[in-house]
Amino acid sequence: MEPDRYTQIDLHCHSTASDGELSPTALVEYARGQGVEVLALTDHDVTDGVAEAAAAAEQHGLAFISGVEISVSWEKQLIHIVGLDFDVDDPTLQQGLAGLRAQRQGRAEEMGRRLDRKLGCEGSLAAAQTYADGQILSRTHFARYLLDSGRVKTLQEAFDRYLGAGKPCYVKTEWTDLAQAVNWITAAGGEAVIAHPSRYKLSATKLRRLIEDFKAAGGRGLEVISGNQDSNTTRNLAEYAQRHGLHASLGSDYHGPSQGWRQMGRLAPLPRGCEPIWRLWQEGGVRP
Ligand code: AMP
Ligand code: MN
Ligand code: MN
Ligand code: MN
Repeated sequence: MEPDRYTQIDLHCHSTASDGELSPTALVEYARGQGVEVLALTDHDVTDGVAEAAAAAEQHGLAFISGVEISVSWEKQLIHIVGLDFDVDDPTLQQGLAGLRAQRQGRAEEMGRRLDRKLGCEGSLAAAQTYADGQILSRTHFARYLLDSGRVKTLQEAFDRYLGAGKPCYVKTEWTDLAQAVNWITAAGGEAVIAHPSRYKLSATKLRRLIEDFKAAGGRGLEVISGNQDSNTTRNLAEYAQRHGLHASLGSDYHGPSQGWRQMGRLAPLPRGCEPIWRLWQEGGVRP
């Protein structure tokens, strides 16, 4: 496979294995319908959807890359690190992800208690749980419950009023550290990528520091294009990637049809001068 020949490559999206709305098979079918030719499934802290997505991709003629999006704490802030093209059966990686899922469970229980208190009701945890199909509970599942029960008008409002960082039902969590997450991915034969760097609202100095720490741990990729990002941000991130010698990745961060404004198959090409992340797979003689 020669990815440079492809026009729609999407290396970041979610299925019902985490907080996406479509099953891995339905997601692949949707992606194909949107013209996506190369796809990585990157669920939060879990790889349960990868085998099903890979099988569906094979059936529908898409090139498929294994993936995951790992919750990391860096300088007390939540950062997402995407892992791509690794051995899904790697025991150290899987042990690490299992630890994060256990933390998610404890966090969800506390989030449920806080929501019950805040809303003066009971059963928020159980209600959120009905929105989850897989092994993890995400803030997204709580947000969908708040939306459907009429407590908020949009998912965004659920985060702004209750679930976002610093809001009353936000539970501070010490996830794994950056170097550890990068190590899990690279030791499993994959490449680590800093997901949607513009979403953390870091100062330029802090973003440089994040990149330096990430590179020191063996990270090699920066997500230069994330779904619905404006072109100035893309240009800016492309510059960071080039200046720091990072390879560029791109992905929609698609979660499902109710995110009406976000689709698959609509990503701009990587800016000229970016070294695409898939060159690393080619160098290794693996994929694509
Ligand atoms: P968690 O991994 O459980 O902390 O939940 C984070 C997830 O919540 C992200 O991956 C997004 O899918 C979702 N999310 C975060 N902020 C927002 C927001 N403002 N609006 C909608 N979804 C959001
Ligand atoms: Mn998500
Ligand atoms: Mn993310
Ligand atoms: Mn994501």
